[in-house]
Parts: sequence; structure tokens; C-alpha cells
Amino acid sequence: MNTKYIRNVAIIAHVDHGKTSLLDQLLYQSGMFRDAELDKLAGGQHNLIMDSNPIERERGITILSKNCAIDYTDQDGSEYKINVIDTPGHADFGGEVERVMKMADGVLLVVDAFEGPMPQTRFVLSKALENHLKPVLVVNKADRTDSRPDDVVTEVFDLLVQLDADDDALDFPVVFSSARDGWARRDMNDGNDNMKPVYDAIIHSVPTPKDNPEEPLQMLVTTLDYSDYVGKIAIGRVFAGRIGEAQAVTVIDNEGKHTLQKVVKLYQFSGLGKAEVDIVQAGDICAIAGLDPVDIGNTIACPDKPSALPVISVDEPTMTMT
Ligand code: GDP
Repeated sequence: MNTKYIRNVAIIAHVDHGKTSLLDQLLYQSGMFRDAELDKLAGGQHNLIMDSNPIERERGITILSKNCAIDYTDQDGSEYKINVIDTPGHADFGGEVERVMKMADGVLLVVDAFEGPMPQTRFVLSKALENHLKPVLVVNKADRTDSRPDDVVTEVFDLLVQLDADDDALDFPVVFSSARDGWARRDMNDGNDNMKPVYDAIIHSVPTPKDNPEEPLQMLVTTLDYSDYVGKIAIGRVFAGRIGEAQAVTVIDNEGKHTLQKVVKLYQFSGLGKAEVDIVQAGDICAIAGLDPVDIGNTIACPDKPSALPVISVDEPTMTMT
């Protein structure tokens, strides 16, 4: 897929502001539950899928954040893939938040239309700005009778100013939504009754990945997953080059040691699941089975020209609330 049609966006929110409901609604309205497996998962009710995935309960190790991918066709008929990187809502996972943000080019910032920005919003947003991620603000629960959407927009703007955001970040798009009722609006009074403004804001405001598929392969492992069938799964963004199924790769560990290994299975995210693919290009996020040893922070590189990406922090620093 041409990187022009890929968007990588991390979703961040204070707990209970509606991140899960928003993701479920975005998946649902893009028709991602046509798949029988996912329909079953939905159990006739499409809410809270991200929290109630039985696969997650089954797996041997717990991963803290999940990815999903949403297909979206805009009004001109262009087909996009939006990779959504979920971030842990809990304050203790600061290190995880920082890591998964390495996969994104923008952030979907979900803020409750009554409560406004909260300490976790501030913390995660500061990490997003450090990583130069473009914010897209979703003021959710705008259906609440006590909501104060315009004040909340001003509060987010003031917060960004406090966090030294640059002009580009301050020029963020705003969408008002009711994830519960399935509508999103650029203007509270426009009467729109679907989620299209959210997808469109992502397509138009989150930058296209700039990664070059013609350079030697470099993929950064940011998350690990595990399946009984294929074992350890390394997840991350391909920052340069291409990676193919059955390809020989060099895994560079965090001490700089190289091992030659083979990609057994290669996946991309599709809806809430993973779909096996032959090749993944720079700018996209993929999952690889068959690599072991492999760990968070490792670079998957091309054996002819192996070069490590900058090392990322793998410990979990305690969050400081300021
Ligand atoms: P998360 O913790 O950020 O993932 O939040 P959830 O999606 O689990 O939502 C937290 C609570 O807010 C749940 O009780 C939802 O039903 C409710 N909620 C989510 N979105 C909306 C909304 O747009 N309007 C209203 N009124 N309630 C919402």
C-alpha cells in the first residue's frame, strides 16, 4: 500500500473519557465487523470490544497496548488504512506510552466534554509533543446535557501552550462527538449523524508517513505479543525498506549483538485482528512471527546492511504528575 494512504495515529485519553467507545464506534461504522469472527466477538453488541477481547485473556503474556487498523474510503473514493495504536490508560505505564508513540505520526486526543483535560491527558500529551505528533482533538460525550464543549477546547489549547507546543500542534482540528450515540461534528450545530468527521480529521491532519521503502530495512520492535500457534510475535513500525514473509533478517539486540533469523509469518493489522501478508513497506506497522530471540527495542534489519535504530527505553519509569 502506498504510504500516501496510510495514517498511524495513537489514541490517548484520561480513563473513562471514552477512548474504548470511540474506537469501537470507528471500527463499527467502517464496517469492520463484517468478518464472522469479529461479529462473534461483538456478540451482537459492538461496544467495549477493545476491552473484552477473549484472545487477550487467553494469551500467555499480557501486552499493555493493542493495535487495530480501520479501512476508510473518503468522499473522493480514496481508500485509506488508519493504524490505531492504543495507549494504556493507566498512569503506571509511562514507559509503554512513550514506546508505542514511536509508531505514530499523530495522536487522537479524546477529552470528556464535561470534565475537560485531566492529569493523564496532560502527561500523555506532553509525551506526544516530545515525539512531534500532531494532535487531533475529539471532545467526546458532547451529548451530555452538562457538557461545555467550547470551554474544553479552550482548556486543551491552554494546556498545549503550557506544554510549549509549536504552532503546528496548536493548529489542531477539533471534532465534537458522542461515541455512545455514534455521531461526530465539526460544529456542534451541524446535525451530522455519523463518525466521518473523525476519520476525515485524521486523514487530513495526521501527516503521511515519510519513511522510505527504497532504503535498507529497519523495523523497530515496540511491543511483543504471543500466540499458541506461532509463539512470540514482534510488533513495530517499519521505518525503512520492506519486509517479506520467509525473508532472512538480522535482529540487532539492545547490546548491539546481531543474529541472523527468518521471518516465518508476517501480518498487518486489520480491524481488531491480524491478516497475513507477503510484504510490508516502510511507513506501515507489522507483526512478525518466528523471531526468537527478539525483544522490545531490537531493530529488525536487512542482513546486507544491518544498522540499528536509536535505542528506546524499555524500563517503566514511574509517572510524575505535574
Ligand atoms: P475509556 O476508559 O476511555 O476507554 O472509556 P469508555 O469508552 O469505557 O467509556 C467510559 C464510560 O463513558 C462508559 O460508561 C461509556 O458508556 C461512557 N461514554 C463513552 N462515550 C460516551 C459518550 O459519547 N456519551 C456519553 N454520555 N457517555 C459515553
